[in-house]
Amino acid sequence: MYNVGIYVRLSDEDRYKRDKSDDSDSIANQKSMLLKYALNRNWNVVGIYSDDDWSGADRNRPQFNKLIQDCENGLINIVLCKTQARFSRDMEIIEKYLHDKFIEWRVRFISIVDNADTNVRENKKARQINGLINEWYLEDLSRDIRDSLQNKREDGLFLGSFAPYGYMKDPNDKNKLIIDLVAAEVVKEIYALYLSGLGYHKIATNLNNKGIPTPTNYKKENGSKFVCKKAKYKEKTKWSQDTIAKILQNEVYIGNLIQGKSTYVSYKNHKVISKPKEQWTYSYGTHEAIIDIETWRRVQEKKSKRTKPLKTTGEIYMLSCKVYCKECGAVFTRQLYTTKDGKTPYLKCKSRILASRDCINKESIRCDIIEKYILDEINKQLDNYYNLNELERNYKLQKAALDDETINKVKSYDEEKESLNEKIARKNDYYKKLYEDKLEGIITQEEFVMFRTKFSKEVEEYKKRLTIIEDELKNIKDKEEHINISESVFEKYRHIDKLSKDIVDEFVDVIKVGKVDHLNTRDIDIHLNIINLD
Ligand SMILES: [Zn+2]
Repeated sequence: MYNVGIYVRLSDEDRYKRDKSDDSDSIANQKSMLLKYALNRNWNVVGIYSDDDWSGADRNRPQFNKLIQDCENGLINIVLCKTQARFSRDMEIIEKYLHDKFIEWRVRFISIVDNADTNVRENKKARQINGLINEWYLEDLSRDIRDSLQNKREDGLFLGSFAPYGYMKDPNDKNKLIIDLVAAEVVKEIYALYLSGLGYHKIATNLNNKGIPTPTNYKKENGSKFVCKKAKYKEKTKWSQDTIAKILQNEVYIGNLIQGKSTYVSYKNHKVISKPKEQWTYSYGTHEAIIDIETWRRVQEKKSKRTKPLKTTGEIYMLSCKVYCKECGAVFTRQLYTTKDGKTPYLKCKSRILASRDCINKESIRCDIIEKYILDEINKQLDNYYNLNELERNYKLQKAALDDETINKVKSYDEEKESLNEKIARKNDYYKKLYEDKLEGIITQEEFVMFRTKFSKEVEEYKKRLTIIEDELKNIKDKEEHINISESVFEKYRHIDKLSKDIVDEFVDVIKVGKVDHLNTRDIDIHLNIINLD
C-alpha cells in the first residue's frame, strides 16, 4: 500500500515572476495536479503539506519539517512534488533526504514535471544535476532581486517597509515619501530645542513631559501594524536620548534618502549584516524636506562639537568647545579647583589634563576672567559699529563685499552646473532604457553590466565636478552672508551687560589661548562671527 505525502510550496520566485497573471505554480494548481496524479494510481493520500512564501533554500519551513517527521515515523512512503525544486533547491537537503534518509526510511520520492523518481536507479544523476541547476538558479535569482532593488534605490525610490518618523508613504506611490504634518512639527521642534542649547536628554524629557507620543507609539496610534520588539513588553515607550540623536542626524529630513545599509549574508542565510558606509546608496532631493538646509548645517556643526552638559545644572557651559589651545590645538576644558572662595571654575588645555601632559601651555585660565575678556571685545565691536555714521558703516561692511571677478565666477559656475545636470538626466534616461532592454532580453546581463559600469563612471565624473562647483558657490555665498549676519547681529544689540550661551554662539566663532610668557602675559585671540570693524 502506498501512503502519499503531497508537498506544495509557494516560493519567493513566484512573487517576482514577470507575468503576474501566470498562476500555474499557485498552491491550488500544484495541489490539484498532484492529487490527480495520486488518485489515478489509487494511492492513499495521507496529507497535503503546504508552505507559503518560503524560499527553497530555507531549512525552517514548518510544513516541510512536519513532512520529514511523518516520513521518519513511517506514516508516509511516497513524497510527491511538482518538481524537485519545490521540495528543495538546496543541494545539501536533496542529498541528505533523497539519497540518504529516504532510502533508510524506505520512502520513495517522485516529482512529476522533471521526472525524478528514487525508485529508478538511473535517475539519480539527473536528480543531482537538477539539484545543482536549481541551486544556481536560486543564486542568480537572489542576485537579480538584489540588483533590481539596488537599481530602485539608485533611482531614489523609497524601499523601506515603514516611512521614517515625520513622513508617510504617498498613498498613490508607495515608493515615495510625503510629509506627515503632525510628526513633522515634532521633528522641527527637536531641531529647534537642540539649537536653543538643550542636550539630548533634556529634549527627550521635554517631549515626555508634554506627552508627545514617541515614533513607535505614534505609529501604533495611527493604525500601523508595526511592532517594535521592545514595545511588545512595554505598552508606552518614552522618548530617549537615542531617538533624539537619531532624528538629529537623519538626512531624510533634508530630503535625502540613504538606503541599503544592510544586506543578507547570502541567499541561503537570511541573517542581516551591516554594509560599510561607502556601499550605502545615497539619493538626494527625493522628497520634500522638513528641516531647511541652514538649520541642518547648524545642528550638524553643533553636534560635531557636542559636549557633555554640566553635571550640576544639566546645561551646557557657554564656552564649551569654543576655547582652544593656541600651542597644541586641543580644546580647553572646564575644571573646578578648590580655592579659599570655594570651588572656582577654570579652563585648561586638554593635553595638559591627559596623563602625558605634552603641551607647553600649562597654565589654566579662570572662567570669569576669560568671560569678561570676551564681553569687553564684543562691546568694543558694538561701540565701533554705533560710533560710525550710516555711510561709514555701509562702506566698512561692504568692503568685504563681492567684486566683479567673483560675480563673473558665479555666472559661469551656474551655467556649468545646469549643463552638468542636463547631462546626468540624459544618462539616467539612457540607463532606464538599458535596464528595460535587459528585462526584455534585448541585451544580456553581461552587456548590461558593461554598459552600466561605463555609465556609472561618466556620471561619477559629472557628479565630482558638480560637488566642486557647489563648494565654490557655497564659499562665495558664505562671504556674502557674513555681511548680512554681521549687520543683523550688530542691529540686534546696543550693549551687552551679561554674557550668555546665546550671545556667545551668536558672536564668537573660536577663541585661542596661548601660553603664559616671561612677562606673565598670554595671547587670547578672539575670532568673531561678525565682521571686525577695527
Ligand atoms: Zn595645549
